Amino acid sequence: MNPEQIKAMQRRINDAGFPLVIDGFWGPKSQAACRAYLRSLMPSPNPWPQPDQVSLREFYGEPGDEGNLVMIEFPYRMLYGGQAVSRTRVHKKCAASLLRVLAAIQGLFNDAPDIVDEASDYGGCFNFRPKRGGRSWSLHAWGAAIDLDADDNTFRDSWPMRADMPLEIMEAFAREGWKSAGAFWGYDAMHFEATA
Ligand SMILES: [Zn+2]
Repeated sequence: MNPEQIKAMQRRINDAGFPLVIDGFWGPKSQAACRAYLRSLMPSPNPWPQPDQVSLREFYGEPGDEGNLVMIEFPYRMLYGGQAVSRTRVHKKCAASLLRVLAAIQGLFNDAPDIVDEASDYGGCFNFRPKRGGRSWSLHAWGAAIDLDADDNTFRDSWPMRADMPLEIMEAFAREGWKSAGAFWGYDAMHFEATA
């Protein structure tokens, strides 16, 4: 995002009651205010498990168990590597929630047409793999995570200085209790997962 876009986001977070300096620079204070803001949108108690491997196994079952997956139809036109894709498999416990998130995002398209590109660029859901550079399982291994607009929101790009995932999309996930990697970890902004 450019400094003007970052300022607009800072203003939005500030006006929501999470004070920060509106200067177009995203430092630790902006990051903390943004996290607190997104947490404030989440349901209480949060419906999702803590992100440690024991809690995840308890809640989601064995990683890679395709018996826990169900198919969902995307509510709007989605592209995967430029090709139209109409559905994906997701953990059965996340399916209804993810559909509500996507419907909420779709509902923003008229008022915020600039988010359509990021929201429509599907980057994967179920993927039986460990976390990058680690031994623990990624939430993708349970089908409890989804990636959007991977090209502009890579694992390395810091958010929002380099990555461009819009706050509106993160808000839609937060309202269902999902975490946005860009806001919570500052990188990998393509990634959204159903953990508390
Ligand atoms: Zn991911």
